[in-house]
Amino acid sequence: MINYIELAKEINEEIIQNRREIHKFPETGFELDRTLEFIETRLRDYGVEPIRVGRAGISATVGREGKTILLRADMDALPMKEETDLLFKSENDFCHSCGHDAHTAMLLGAARLLKENEDSLNGTVKLMFQPAEELLAGAMDMIEAGILENPKVDAAVAMHIYVGNELSRTGTISYSRGPALFSGDAIKIHVKGKNAHGSTPDKGIDAISIAAHIVIALQQIIAREVPTDDQAVVIVGKISGGDTVNTLAGNAELEVSVRATTEKMREYLKKRVKEISESVAVTFGGKAEVEFWYGMGPLFNDLALTDEIIGYCKEVIGEDNLNQIPIAVGTEDFTSIAAKVPGVMINLGVGSVEEGYSLSIHNPGMILNEEALHIGAALHAHIATRYLIDK
Ligand SMILES: [Zn+2]
Ligand SMILES: [Zn+2]
Repeated sequence: MINYIELAKEINEEIIQNRREIHKFPETGFELDRTLEFIETRLRDYGVEPIRVGRAGISATVGREGKTILLRADMDALPMKEETDLLFKSENDFCHSCGHDAHTAMLLGAARLLKENEDSLNGTVKLMFQPAEELLAGAMDMIEAGILENPKVDAAVAMHIYVGNELSRTGTISYSRGPALFSGDAIKIHVKGKNAHGSTPDKGIDAISIAAHIVIALQQIIAREVPTDDQAVVIVGKISGGDTVNTLAGNAELEVSVRATTEKMREYLKKRVKEISESVAVTFGGKAEVEFWYGMGPLFNDLALTDEIIGYCKEVIGEDNLNQIPIAVGTEDFTSIAAKVPGVMINLGVGSVEEGYSLSIHNPGMILNEEALHIGAALHAHIATRYLIDK
């Protein structure tokens, strides 16, 4: 078996330079022109032919006919200004505080390693560089454009950086077996009442008062309806309405976020938010229109595939560097892929609190230990190679 850690060490500098190049010029959503061009140039340098998939995705394959394993990296940054002292700090108003620059650099590293050892591949490795992860939209766009077909994908693996906690020591892998991430749904509730002058409240229907009753009533879902051995979240994150101090508000709007660990509980929460909002509004003579704004289901790491992938990780980094962790609250666009083919998401430690990395992802000051990146590239390459041998 090829020692990918050794080979990845030899291209360590290049992986780090690729990451810094992407880090300096972050782009968001589907607007990734510069990033896409950079990735395509690098892939061609490595002898791998990229193709555009969907609005702003890149796919490439390495290997030969046989089973196909997909490795996913995301490319988009966040619309926030970086707050670090890095020499290669972002030069615009966006920031790679979710580490997607690292994901892309690691997958580029893996592309080179796999291409240089293509003869050892017993099937196809499909590389997927996806846009708009933060918008929870890029994966579906690429799926609709056929990323899971031609060749048909048999299994999918995504690696996310893990930083700023006790378990995220450099070079470790943390993973969940089965339920891995909560679902997340955003819901808008438009409350319709009737304007009236404050001196004649009986002539109007107070949308603000109705909205307040809805806020209280929604708390009942978690307090009384979710079993104690299940976990769920319902919050009202935003409320607005009314025009002026002495007028009854004709309209109010609530923004509600719900999270669940299973698809069943997710559907239940959405159903109850709708029922409660509508009936509370009716009780007070108004109306509530419930709009399911956007959402993502819970991520479930395929059990058999997780065991296989973690077994391959162990061959590279050893048992002591593997941590099984409980389900995490958060959503990931990879869920769209794992809903269609067996999928696993693993977390690569890129700096723990003890190592001096105290900030987590989505913090504009987040920094990571770049010495982890070649390990991530080696893991990608080893996982793909081993999976194809076993299939
Ligand atoms: Zn993120
Ligand atoms: Zn991310």
